[in-house]
Amino acid sequence: MAVEIPFRREFSFEYGRLEPVTSMIRRIVARNPSPFTFRGTGTYVVGYGGVAVIDPGPDLPEHIDALLASLCAERITHILITHTHRDHSPAAQAVKEATGAPTYGFGRHAGGKRGDPAVEEGGDWDFVPDRTLRDGDRIAGNGWQLEAVHTPGHTSNHLCFAMPESGVLFSGDHVMGWSTSVVAPPDGDMAAYMASLDKLLARRDSIYWPTHGPAITEPQAHVRAFIAHRREREAGILDCLRMRIGRTDGIVDRLYVGLQPGLHRAAGRSVHAHLIDLVDRGIVESDGPPTVDARYRLVES
Ligand SMILES: [Zn+2]
Repeated sequence: MAVEIPFRREFSFEYGRLEPVTSMIRRIVARNPSPFTFRGTGTYVVGYGGVAVIDPGPDLPEHIDALLASLCAERITHILITHTHRDHSPAAQAVKEATGAPTYGFGRHAGGKRGDPAVEEGGDWDFVPDRTLRDGDRIAGNGWQLEAVHTPGHTSNHLCFAMPESGVLFSGDHVMGWSTSVVAPPDGDMAAYMASLDKLLARRDSIYWPTHGPAITEPQAHVRAFIAHRREREAGILDCLRMRIGRTDGIVDRLYVGLQPGLHRAAGRSVHAHLIDLVDRGIVESDGPPTVDARYRLVES
């Protein structure tokens, strides 16, 4: 691969400890490490006294108890959800019950149906936000303000949260330092994901705090590398199609050299996301509906 992504995997933290990462932001990491969550879910706490919690995390009692105990002398006033994957939103229910704080998010989980096999953490079909947020909506709390930035792609309901005056963007799973994002149809959408990367490039945020892993201190270079990486992947897929490699599995075998076996399915979904985008753009066609198992070929011009 020619494109070098400046991955960031240096990450120092202690499970179960709410630690300050800036003067206004604290983070506590859940013990749910996996090939999709890196060391685990980083739950952010914004402000002091009356605080917002961003992505309370998985339904893991040890994590929820540690979060609530750390904030027992303060008040949680807002629970914000970047998106409805099971490593992000399920703990919202317990935190809401314990504190009475309302939940905020774009909306319910969408795409596919409950019980569909998931390539990563899977959808949280139970989460329904008390207050729905749209792009540009602002929430103000005790000495802090957050703005919703709708960034569909990883999921259709993905939001980033910006702190307008400080240059901070909580980037959820849309842009992470340790890994690329999974873009898995039907809810994941490659065209939307690329547009959401362009959307961040047009902004002036100076630091990203993703839900998994360390901060990204040069966000523009990072986002540009992700865009270049996906374009390169798309070019590789088109090369495969020229060589009459028309099935997802064959394309994955050719393009993802040295892939961990556990990630083969996720890679297939990502290739599938590219293929759907290429079909939508009239560059590629499939035998029958553009499913993950279909055979794809270039449209003759
Ligand atoms: Zn996710």
